[in-house]
Amino acid sequence: MANASETGKDKARSSTRDRAGRETLRSWAPATGALLGEVPVATTEDVERAVARARRAQEAWALLPVEERAERVLRYRNALVDRAEEVVDLEVRETGKTRHEALISEVFVVADVATYYAKNARRLLAPQPIEMVRMKHRRSYVHYVPRGVVAVISPWNFPVVLSLSDTLTALIAGNAVVCKPSEITPLVVQKCKEIWDAAGLPPDLFQVVHGHGEVGADLIAAGVDKVVFTGGVATGRKVAAACGERLVPCVLELGGKAPLIACADADIERTARAIVFGGFANSGQICLSVERVYAHESVHDLLLERVVGLVSELRQGDPATGDVDVGAMTFPRQVEVVEAHIEDALAKGAVLRAGGKRRPGAGMFFEPTVLARCDHRMTVMTEEIFGPIVPFMKVGSEEEAIALANDSHLGLDAYVFTRDRDRGCRIAERVVAGSVVVNDVLANYAYPEAPFGGVKASGIGRVHGDDALRDMCQARHVNVDRFGSLEREPFWHPYDATTYKVILKATRALFGGGGLVQKLSELL
Ligand code: NAD
Repeated sequence: MANASETGKDKARSSTRDRAGRETLRSWAPATGALLGEVPVATTEDVERAVARARRAQEAWALLPVEERAERVLRYRNALVDRAEEVVDLEVRETGKTRHEALISEVFVVADVATYYAKNARRLLAPQPIEMVRMKHRRSYVHYVPRGVVAVISPWNFPVVLSLSDTLTALIAGNAVVCKPSEITPLVVQKCKEIWDAAGLPPDLFQVVHGHGEVGADLIAAGVDKVVFTGGVATGRKVAAACGERLVPCVLELGGKAPLIACADADIERTARAIVFGGFANSGQICLSVERVYAHESVHDLLLERVVGLVSELRQGDPATGDVDVGAMTFPRQVEVVEAHIEDALAKGAVLRAGGKRRPGAGMFFEPTVLARCDHRMTVMTEEIFGPIVPFMKVGSEEEAIALANDSHLGLDAYVFTRDRDRGCRIAERVVAGSVVVNDVLANYAYPEAPFGGVKASGIGRVHGDDALRDMCQARHVNVDRFGSLEREPFWHPYDATTYKVILKATRALFGGGGLVQKLSELL
């Protein structure tokens, strides 16, 4: 068995060659260092062939009525749920996360998203009539046309949901999908693909190509029609540039630095439990994790003490062998990032109240860590942590908390805890983030009906919600004369002075000061 640091290096760049000389990706269990398996790395030609096959499969798929596509996706959902424990077992070993997290945050959410879109796709993708404001003699509607082949490029922290949720959305909308999962967690996504094939669904319609970042870059270059990317900000910029070069639309779901504002009237017990769950679920490796706490001075000390108490009760260990609350970290480089944050914070005056170090031995277990007396000179308050650290900062007012929450280059999620719901909503409307949740944490990614995504460097575009399904399509505007057509429209060639004067008069009558539009708006 490899020791933890060897595993770390291997897992960061774990390619080797099989007997046939093909490059393969190896996957290691972060909790034990054991080798779990390997998959072949796709060459540029493999990726191009996958996209070509997907394009052919998509042509037939797009011709099916939306209800039939939805029904087949539900067949996949059923197969996935039937085999949920196989997926959970493998995922727990490959990521180091707990069984609860693998079930509820991955399989459950995929099933929920598939169900929501399958149930609503017919309504959401039905042609949408547009009421014409002036051209009443013409009829307009938006017709939703599948884009073609969608690339889904996913990270390692939630390999199943971040690969499948967007994949199934794209499929219901009539697209084919080629997915490139993270090189750190290829096996569990490969398992999901096997379940697709075993359910008798068209194998070319949903394909998986494996490899490092180059394979993701090859996929974007292979002529896909849309990219849904989830990953880090630096990679997101590269993906955006590659998509910009090709004028391919992309959704970018990037990093987060979620603030949690604890108001003076916050319920201490609920807030403390939310901080512990929001900070340490999946060892803090969640883009929505509670990454900084701004606690009002009147509740700060009580809240901090309660959080420290709850952290001391957390059970950490190998989730494959028993009931634990916190498993292993997944990605070796992330352990180093966490250590660097703690070192920087302690050097600048933070106080360590819990945890603070990696557990010795094989396996990447990092103790749930609480830091007090933090401030914005410390990277732990300003840069993404993506690991099990919750830093606390005392604030004197709501205004100060909002200003500090907004003092970030990231804006994915934010949380407000208060007994006064109106105050919660007032604060939520002033915090700059894609989602702000009052009196809860993490759960909002799991609402299929609500849009999810970031502002600032946290990303572009949204997944989930009704618009995300429609965005898997091109919105084609169709406009048609209701009655018989004239020989020519008045503003077509040939131009003449009389028509010009008529148009000028009409423009003034409609839009000029005291014109029809102004009068109507005064009346209404
Ligand atoms: P990453 O950016 O290193 O990798 C993500 C994926 O991109 C991987 O599959 C990788 O192989 C691929 N990739 C790398 N270079 C590429 C390139 N040039 N072109 C195309 N693909 C390329 O991210 P990660 O370390 O796997 O994931 C952690 C990050 O993901 C964190 O920053 C986290 O906040 C973010 N994340 C965001 C969300 C969200 O919904 N906003 C969800 C989960 C994770």
